[in-house]
Amino acid sequence: MNDSQTETHQTSPATRADLDPNIDFDAVVVGAGFGGMYMLYKLRELGFTARVYEAASDVGGTWYWNRYPGARCDVPSLQYSYQFSEKLQQEWKWTERFSSQPEILRYANHVADRFHLRQDIQFHTRVESAVYNAADETWTVSTDAGDRVTARFCIMATGCLSARNTPDFPGLENFRGERFHTGNWPRDGVNFAGKRVGVVGTGSTGIQAIPVIAEQAAHLFVFQRTAQYSVPARNAPIDAEEEARIKADYKGYRERNTRQPFGLDLLSQMSTINTSEVGEEGRRHHYKGCWEHGGQALMLAYADTGTDKAANETVSDFLKEKIQSVVNDSKVAEVLTPDHIYACKRPCLDTNYFEVYNRPNVTLVDCRSTGIEDITPTGVIVDGSEHEVDCLVFATGFDAMTGALNNIDIRGKGNRALKDKWVDGPRSYLGLSSAGFPNFFTMTGPGSPSVLANMIPALEQHANWIGDCLEYMRTRDLRTIEATLEAEDPWQIQVLQVADATLWNACDNWYTGSNVPGKPRVFMPYVDWVGYVEICKDVVRDNYKGFALR
Ligand SMILES: Cc1cc2nc3c(=O)[nH]c(=O)nc-3n(C[C@H](O)[C@H](O)[C@H](O)COP(=O)(O)OP(=O)(O)OC[C@H]3O[C@@H](n4cnc5c(N)ncnc54)[C@H](O)[C@@H]3O)c2cc1C
Repeated sequence: MNDSQTETHQTSPATRADLDPNIDFDAVVVGAGFGGMYMLYKLRELGFTARVYEAASDVGGTWYWNRYPGARCDVPSLQYSYQFSEKLQQEWKWTERFSSQPEILRYANHVADRFHLRQDIQFHTRVESAVYNAADETWTVSTDAGDRVTARFCIMATGCLSARNTPDFPGLENFRGERFHTGNWPRDGVNFAGKRVGVVGTGSTGIQAIPVIAEQAAHLFVFQRTAQYSVPARNAPIDAEEEARIKADYKGYRERNTRQPFGLDLLSQMSTINTSEVGEEGRRHHYKGCWEHGGQALMLAYADTGTDKAANETVSDFLKEKIQSVVNDSKVAEVLTPDHIYACKRPCLDTNYFEVYNRPNVTLVDCRSTGIEDITPTGVIVDGSEHEVDCLVFATGFDAMTGALNNIDIRGKGNRALKDKWVDGPRSYLGLSSAGFPNFFTMTGPGSPSVLANMIPALEQHANWIGDCLEYMRTRDLRTIEATLEAEDPWQIQVLQVADATLWNACDNWYTGSNVPGKPRVFMPYVDWVGYVEICKDVVRDNYKGFALR
């Protein structure tokens, strides 16, 4: 189907559900980020009726909520975008190598306008429960706006990083100043001029926000529990020649990227040789080149840095030296120097992050030994000392991958709650389906590459897989599909085995849920994007092997 036909189709929603008196819609989709938006497009394209519920007032998901200063993607813009429409990808012009949040949100809005998506999205509506009715094989979805609708399929596009995490700091409720979470930033922005600001958290978000807030605030206190590695993004205006080259064969470019680790164009920067095959001087030269290039090149500089601790040390030592050379005060540099394996926590990209600690208006507060002991009405106590602040910014991340799902009362066969099934960690087949929950899909769910892939293509891959599955069922008059336990149990083992062959599972990070107190420690994403895409194709080729279809 070409784009113009698609668009015509998109303006005339199908009415198939009208034929089935038991349901209001063929599918309910929860969430209108990039996942939910494309899922809706795909369903409509196939002639299914759908209703999308979204808690926010508009589309964009991550990029709607995370409006904090400095927010931007760390996947190059020409790749962090949809590929389902050739016209769309040709006509949209990104201005920077790594797009800022406002630009990504403009893009999301453009897509919603261009494909008339909003007509099937109900905003300001949080889904509270989704309950499977075995008798008529439908889902009943209830919302905080009083909706109660039925659908054959229930598709969760609720986001891997949408349930905010704010640790339960003692005294938090006593703080009299303003408080912000980077994942729910005020639409009109925040004016930090003349203010003493405290930022809690130095993960990817803190690292993006801190240099920008430091420029505005009278004084900035950074409360750091864990030091991080970070590599300069080297953000810049889009290179017109590179854009023209990619756009000359965008389709081919995307296809090639699908066959690369993380679904990213990294091949040119990837090495197939091990660190030990190169002398120290050659290695350092290569690392320096990657550093100058910026972006994620260092992560794949050698074939074994992600799998072998000694190899990893060669790159982490290089990064530690960089911190020491950038930060003037050696004591501050020491506190900023991480002691974990490079890239086993989400690799961060920055613009002037370490440089910020040379500013006279920035103080680094080391929380390693005592943590945040107390929050008073006027400040934060660490190691017995109070740091007075007018406002607090929590860059404390998310209850990743399972948080948004567990916030909904999801009940499958026998009224069993998904969160009870997942009490010891998520269990799914392919991160798409969980046994006991028929006709229920999770987009980029735990057990799929998700956050260890370029996520917009990963979401498209899931939406296409789900759409094709629904079409397969329709043409064969099948009413239900669910993962079998025989497929799900070994998949869980495979997820861990693949992770354990790398260093991703070797430290505490949000991929394992370790950032959320009480969350079971289970490695959630599937590390091998390329292998995963092939497995998904094989499952379809084998008539949905691993799924029970009726
Ligand atoms: C700061 C930041 C930077 C990132 N940068 C990158 C990057 O560079 N590259 C990359 O690949 N990925 C990045 N990500 C990951 C990003 O989340 C994904 O790329 C992508 O935007 C996820 O889209 P989604 O539709 O799956 O989820 P989301 O964008 O999170 O959308 C989910 C939506 O579901 C809604 N929702 C959740 N629960 C309910 C409910 N019960 N009822 C109704 N609505 C609900 C939420 O309000 C939200 O709008 C980043 C994430 C963050 C937070």
